[in-house]
Amino acid sequence: MGKNEEFFLRAQQCIPGGVNSPVRAFKKVGGTPRFIIKGQGPYMFDAEGKRYIDHVLSWGPLILGHCHPEVISAVKEQVNSGTSYGAPTELEILMAEEICNAIPSIEQVRFVNSGTEATMSAIRLARAYTKRKTIVKFEGCYHGHVDSLLAKAGSGAMTFSLPDSSGVPSEITATTAVLKYNDIAGFKSFMDKNGESVAAVIVEPVAGNMGVVLPEKGFLETLRQSTLENKALLIFDEVITGFRLCYGGFQDILGIRPDITCLGKIIGGGMPVGAFGASRDIMSMLAPSGPVYQAGTLSGNPVAMAAGLATLKVLKRENPYPGLEKTMSEFSNEVLDIAKSAGLAFTINHIGSMAGLFFNKGPVKGLDTVMQSDTQAYADLFHYLLDQGIYIAPSPFEAFFISTAHVRDVMEKTLYSMKEYVMNQA
Ligand SMILES: *Cc1c(COP(=O)(O)O)cnc(C)c1O
Repeated sequence: MGKNEEFFLRAQQCIPGGVNSPVRAFKKVGGTPRFIIKGQGPYMFDAEGKRYIDHVLSWGPLILGHCHPEVISAVKEQVNSGTSYGAPTELEILMAEEICNAIPSIEQVRFVNSGTEATMSAIRLARAYTKRKTIVKFEGCYHGHVDSLLAKAGSGAMTFSLPDSSGVPSEITATTAVLKYNDIAGFKSFMDKNGESVAAVIVEPVAGNMGVVLPEKGFLETLRQSTLENKALLIFDEVITGFRLCYGGFQDILGIRPDITCLGKIIGGGMPVGAFGASRDIMSMLAPSGPVYQAGTLSGNPVAMAAGLATLKVLKRENPYPGLEKTMSEFSNEVLDIAKSAGLAFTINHIGSMAGLFFNKGPVKGLDTVMQSDTQAYADLFHYLLDQGIYIAPSPFEAFFISTAHVRDVMEKTLYSMKEYVMNQA
């Protein structure tokens, strides 16, 4: 028995399903999860010493790849002075100033420990600010494992929905309406009927948790306009997109100002961090300034702040965004060309360093079309690539990422193996 298998058996004895977050378990593709002992640049190494080109990148945070020297040295330096104080530090101010400067809709920001905490707190804040209950979300958008957001639509397009998870009372998701991503008419008609009860509309401005689905022209603009008309708040969940597509939020490319923004992943530089920010007016509702309680023993943790600040510093200095976009575009076009000539039903949605690979003739514009993808084909591709030393997400509904460490010859290896896979299918 190999080490990975041995570890997985042991892990399953003491950790539910052997993992601390479900998709890590390879349930959607089958097989044994790889236990990682080391990361370096674009690579990860498993317990059996096998090297992989990493296209998961810790599910998004590692836009600079593993072990970027500036991030590692910032973390080491902070650790030498302590790992947590439970009292304020200048690092938190520096990080908050950096985020407020980069994202104009954010005048104040509070740090938490995960994206889930950020969205959970943003919703509490929105409900308090508007004195309303209903939250609107969109099918296929994931906002962390917050009770009230673990809901998707039933077959009807506009239903108040049932929970996705056992243990979430239906009373809780009853205040969550789930609409279809990119369905402008559906959203408008929902708001016409229910707009006055809506506290907030929460959306991923690029959906990155059903593969990658881009917003169609007018969709996000409609959300902004309608929430303003109805005095509801607009929450952009930029946990994936924040600092991924430009130095700031995707909102700054779009020219849309949401009321509240949630951040996570990249801003933690690989350490556990989330954040939510808004105007001073909205943020002043939070304790200790206002009546909305929100707290965290390790929030604004100095080691996490140091890792995040170092990451932002590199991103600001090097502006890798045009380069990442170019690398991903070239990669996607080449894969699509091959797939097309092989007659394979295949679609790639991509923007910047993130892409969604779908065994589907496309176009893929929302959860309905995402779900028409051939998931067995994805599992086959996954295992083919894994054998070749290329680690893509162990689920057809997650993003394919690249980092600044994914330079030309690294990407060529991934491309070569994908070509080989497609050829074998033809
Ligand atoms: C990852 C993610 C979250 C949850 O973040 P965690 O740190 O895993 O709690 C929330 N929203 C989006 C868009 C995400 O991609």
